[in-house]
Amino acid sequence: MTIGWHFNNTYSKLSDTFREEIKPIPVNNPELIILNGSLASELNLDFSKIDKKELSKIFSGNVLPNGSNSIAQAYAGHQFGHFTMLGDGRAVLIGEHTTKANKKYDIQFKGSGKTAFSRNGDGRAALGPMLREYIISEAMNALNIPTTRSLAVIKTGENIQRETTLQGAILTRVASSHIRVGTFQYIAARQKENEMKTLLDYTIDRHYPEIKDSNNQALDLLNLLMEQQCNLVVNWMRVGFIHGVMNTDNMTISGETIDYGPCAFMDTYDPKTVFSSIDQMGRYAYCNQPIITKWNLARFAECLVPLIDKDQDKAVKIATETINSFEKKYEEKWMDMMRNKLGLFGLDEKDKFLILDLLTWMHEKKADYTNTFCHLMDLDPKKDKLFDDNDLVNWKKRWKERLSQNNDSPNKYLELMKNNNPLVIPRNHKVEEALEAAEKNDLKPLNRLIEILKYPYTQKNDILDYQTPSASDEKYQTFCGT
Ligand code: AMP
Ligand code: MG
Repeated sequence: MTIGWHFNNTYSKLSDTFREEIKPIPVNNPELIILNGSLASELNLDFSKIDKKELSKIFSGNVLPNGSNSIAQAYAGHQFGHFTMLGDGRAVLIGEHTTKANKKYDIQFKGSGKTAFSRNGDGRAALGPMLREYIISEAMNALNIPTTRSLAVIKTGENIQRETTLQGAILTRVASSHIRVGTFQYIAARQKENEMKTLLDYTIDRHYPEIKDSNNQALDLLNLLMEQQCNLVVNWMRVGFIHGVMNTDNMTISGETIDYGPCAFMDTYDPKTVFSSIDQMGRYAYCNQPIITKWNLARFAECLVPLIDKDQDKAVKIATETINSFEKKYEEKWMDMMRNKLGLFGLDEKDKFLILDLLTWMHEKKADYTNTFCHLMDLDPKKDKLFDDNDLVNWKKRWKERLSQNNDSPNKYLELMKNNNPLVIPRNHKVEEALEAAEKNDLKPLNRLIEILKYPYTQKNDILDYQTPSASDEKYQTFCGT
């Protein structure tokens, strides 16, 4: 019975500073809830010949595969602006698996028990939040947005105590790595330049080998991360994704979306949308995500200052200039993204007004963000009367005029739109419905939702129910689930 694991655990070979060696704490009665077959294939792993009982043992960490060397990683982070020492308090990295194409992936169990970094927590995770991460991370992947992936979820068979008693669960998370801005902050706080150099070298070797021979690796890394994170947040804005907890420990150096706690997708277009119950000031609201990305990158730059230049004043000046180029970069990328959503080729100086006027209309009329773009593609699921509104009709005349400058066949612009505007997103009420049923052992809605979300850009007969916003006026709220 060979699954195909190929572990080569480079991070665990770094010094004690970076991690604690620890095994997952075994659980009572593990039961597999879901296994991601297509992801397993992408990773060249084959679980097809293993029975469910054995799979439950594997994905609970009760038995560890050969070659694994499990660790909890150390990191710090700014949480809602406040600096804290953190680390994997409820997760262990069981190893780095290498695929046949020589790509390396962290395999991590989230919810696997206490570690040296657990502080007052129990090291465990609840079923709802772990399934939520599974659903949304896989939806993000299908939306072509860089993300950590979800390979499996098991129930532990143990209860955990939160505000109420909940069923324990473990998610197997797959990531290009779990190095975060917060990892750099942890090392920076220790003020040992050799450790920072170790982390820098490791990161470049793993994620950005193209700058291995550069004469200012730290500065190049800062620029590359800025590029990645800028692209990422533009993608979030494209589909109306609100991360909800953009702390620096939740920003990866690989540029993948990580940590699906209180995240959710916006239905009605409102730039100030916040779902997370703990985000009372709206720090991580939809419209703030770009500026928070910049803020987090500034924290990253601070860590790198000693390596950017020996002359501190000079290093700070260079880092500041770099960070200050964020807005322009973001604006350009955001404009390109919005042009794609509207099928506009080339540039026109009036594009910005055209785009902003549509968004203003959506905001004023409380239009559904996703379905407005569906309407523009003539794929509005419900033929909503809202779209007969005169202001929108007039706006569409301007838009059609601009489209005529494309000098291309209509198919081309529609194709561009269809590649950028999802027809289905994980609608909040659908996610809740699936989670509620799963809590009661009914996995049908969960499996169906996951299947539907695999093809967000494809028009299909059976998606209507998944395109309709919730009928309820109640404000949707999400919780960290820790
Ligand atoms: P998160 O909100 O998942 O980004 O977690 C923030 C920090 O809290 C990380 O250091 C986690 O490891 C830690 N943490 C979250 N939940 C728990 C828990 N149940 N037990 C121990 N540590 C936790
Ligand atoms: Mg986190």
